[in-house]
Amino acid sequence: MQPPPVVRRTWRLVLLGPPGVGKGTQAQLLSNALGACPLSTGDIFRAARSYQSAPGSAMAVAQERMDHGELVPDDLVLGLVVERQPCLRCRGGFTLDGFPRTLRQAVSLDGMLETHRLRLDAVISYELSEEELTERLSGRRMCRRCHAVFHVVKRPPARAGVCDHCGDVLERQRDDEPRAVKARLDAYMEATLEVEEHYAKQNLVVSIAATGEPMVIIAHTLDALAARTLPSEENHSPAPRGLAPSNAG
Ligand code: AMP
Repeated sequence: MQPPPVVRRTWRLVLLGPPGVGKGTQAQLLSNALGACPLSTGDIFRAARSYQSAPGSAMAVAQERMDHGELVPDDLVLGLVVERQPCLRCRGGFTLDGFPRTLRQAVSLDGMLETHRLRLDAVISYELSEEELTERLSGRRMCRRCHAVFHVVKRPPARAGVCDHCGDVLERQRDDEPRAVKARLDAYMEATLEVEEHYAKQNLVVSIAATGEPMVIIAHTLDALAARTLPSEENHSPAPRGLAPSNAG
């Protein structure tokens, strides 16, 4: 299934949704379809895992919080985002995945955007039942070498516990252990609902049911974004299916 046409313009988006909802996949698909710069704070923390963080350092604290399914302190997250501010100025727009996660982060993002005279176009909120989220997360397995992702039921490898791509061992990530999953979902409920309310007041929230295959979900998302196009932009010709806008930078 091909994504539907999208009106040619730059999109600056925040993606909200509980862990396991498929935000990461959608962020990637959306960034490709819209030519936007993807930024995922969760990916930054996961990547930092490969480096040996000094005990007690900010990154070591972040990793410990992450392993327990807890949120990383705001100051550390905001420091990372401030370092990556050029992404916010990307001419092709951006998709923020996993940030902001708290009201303080959302208010800080508002400030950063204001400094650059930019504004968000939409906040996409992906929704799925808690049962399905728990099942998705606790069944997830990742290859320790090539990081390919499988699911014990929904996307099993040909040989149990072995990566189809490189033959290395599949492991459950520490934050996908059942206790950490529960903590992650609780942390999401506690902090991120406030973020959604913040954006609802600005009339930015677009809710999308995250059920079905990723290509179906992206098609719904692009439809919903096209429907939000401002009247002044309606005369622009639609981009070819799934093609990046010409001003991607
Ligand atoms: P994610 O892949 O977005 O689910 O993020 C994985 C983990 O990284 C989360 O469970 C948190 O521990 C941490 N994390 C990622 N982004 C943030 C954020 N914006 N604020 C606090 N913690 C975060």
